[in-house]
Amino acid sequence: AKRDGGGVMRFFEPALDEAARRRRMLELDLREAVAKGQFTLAFQPIFDLKAQRIGGFEALLRWHHPDRGWLSPVDFIPVAEETGLIVPIGEWVMREACRTATRWPEHVRIAVNVSALQFRSPGFQTVVLQALAISGLEPRRLEVEITESVFLDGEGPVVALLHRLRAMGVRVALDDFGTGYSSLSYLRSFPFDKIKIDRSFVTPVARDASAAAIVRAIIDLSAALRTDTTAEGVEDDEQLAVLTEQGCGSIQGYLFSRPVDAASTLELLATPLVR
Ligand code: C2E
Ligand code: CA
Ligand code: CA
Ligand code: CA
Repeated sequence: AKRDGGGVMRFFEPALDEAARRRRMLELDLREAVAKGQFTLAFQPIFDLKAQRIGGFEALLRWHHPDRGWLSPVDFIPVAEETGLIVPIGEWVMREACRTATRWPEHVRIAVNVSALQFRSPGFQTVVLQALAISGLEPRRLEVEITESVFLDGEGPVVALLHRLRAMGVRVALDDFGTGYSSLSYLRSFPFDKIKIDRSFVTPVARDASAAAIVRAIIDLSAALRTDTTAEGVEDDEQLAVLTEQGCGSIQGYLFSRPVDAASTLELLATPLVR
């Protein structure tokens, strides 16, 4: 039982109470993680099918929790968003990602995930400018990945910020394409540099005619809009064959490589293709 502001006793389901307690714990741990630098980045290559080489890496956040070990972003990003901690965490990600990318050849880009809350926070443009200035990374090598959830509270200010980023030379990708409710309308609001086709369409693409038709439509639409495409979650050769035949621009997934640590990105870039 818990006394709320009005002095009324409220009784919670034990399970709910337990869930709330765990969230509170996670929040405290997250605050400490920011202060103590318990985060690290993994990098997953994005393979350019035309050039037949790695065109970039996506930075993926990892947290080494002192008791629970390595945690995936899906375990803590939602709490980081609700508590606003995603803003300082995202700032660290942006700086670390840009810094790492300066070690790569000039044609290799870095893609950075930006949550809706972080994107709409007042300091976001400054965070990008500072990360670029401190690292010395050329803006065209940075690609910001957003999902359509950034548009939910009104398109105007978001589209204006997207144009300012573009004016700086930064690229913008629309992530998880196809999973939202109105993805198509957002393609009219802003000329994205890239569309990332969600894994839920890519996984069945070689065995499900509907999935294949949807992926083909996304790729054809992107071509008409002069937008790049990346297929996410490519795990086998059958999927690769269909995507290649359909003219997909690049692939990302376990077939080519799992996310790796920063040092291993240099090895991947130096390794000639065996397939
Ligand atoms: P996402 O942006 O869609 O990232 C792709 C996810 O798919 C990554 O999971 C990646 O490890 C996974 N993946 C890649 N290839 C394959 C594959 O072939 N098969 C399967 N089954 N999975 C594959 P991860 O690293 O656990 O990240 C999950 C989500 O967390 C990301 O989804 C993104 O939304 C979010 N996230 C990750 N890093 C950050 C970050 O720095 N900031 C923010 N705001 N969100 C992040
Ligand atoms: Ca992403
Ligand atoms: Ca994605
Ligand atoms: Ca996804």
